[in-house]
Amino acid sequence: MNIVLLGAPGAGKGTQAQRLVRDFGIAHIATGDLLRAAVKGGTELGVQAKKYMDAGELVPDQLVIDLVKERLSEDDAQEGFMLDGFPRNTVQAVTLDSELSALGRELDCALLVDVPFDTIIERLSSRRTCRDCGYTGTVQDTQCPNCTGEMYQRDDDSPETIKNRLDVYEKSTSPLVEYYRGQGILQVIDGNRDVDVVYADTRKVLGL
Ligand code: AMP
Repeated sequence: MNIVLLGAPGAGKGTQAQRLVRDFGIAHIATGDLLRAAVKGGTELGVQAKKYMDAGELVPDQLVIDLVKERLSEDDAQEGFMLDGFPRNTVQAVTLDSELSALGRELDCALLVDVPFDTIIERLSSRRTCRDCGYTGTVQDTQCPNCTGEMYQRDDDSPETIKNRLDVYEKSTSPLVEYYRGQGILQVIDGNRDVDVVYADTRKVLGL
C-alpha cells in the first residue's frame, strides 16, 4: 500500500506512522527526519537544508525530491510506503505522481490527519523529540519512553518558527487536500482525539 500522510506540522502524522511501522512494517519515509539526519551528519545536503529548516521555510524542491527518489528506490519501499511530510506543495505532488507512474506504481491513499490550528500551536509548543530514536512526546517526558534517550525541543518548534511553519502549511501544503480529493484518493480523519482512537480510525480507513 502506497500512502501519503497529510496534515499540518504537529497534527500527529509521525505518531500514526510510527504505529503503522510497528504493527505492519510499512516503510516510513519522513522527509523531515531524513533532512534532520543530513543536518546532524553535516552532509552537503544538511548544510544547504539547515537554514531553511531553522526558519521554518520549505527546503528547495529539487533537494527534497532527489532525497525521496533515492529513498523510494530502496528495498524496503518496494512493497509499499508511507510518505510523511512529502509532498509539501503542488510541484512536489505532481513530481511524485510522475515518478511513481514511470515506475508503474501509484498512490492508494492520501490520509489527512485533521487538527484545528489552535490545538496545533499548543501541541508544537509543548512537543519534545527523542534525539536518538525520533519518538515524539511532550514536555512531560523527561526521557524517551522508548529508548531512554534525551528528549529535546526541535529548533523549529520555537514560537516564532511555529508561526512561519503554519503559514507555509496553509499557503503551500493545504492545497494538496483538494489535489488528492480530485484524484479520489483523499481520506480525512479527525486527529483532535486521543491517539489510540485516531489510530483505530487510521487502520479502519486503510483497511488494516
Ligand atoms: P517536518 O519534520 O516534516 O515538520 O519537517 C521539518 C522541516 O524540514 C520543514 O519545516 C522544512 O524546512 C523541511 N522539510 C521537510 N519536508 C519537506 C518537504 N517535503 N519539502 C521542503 N521542505 C521540507
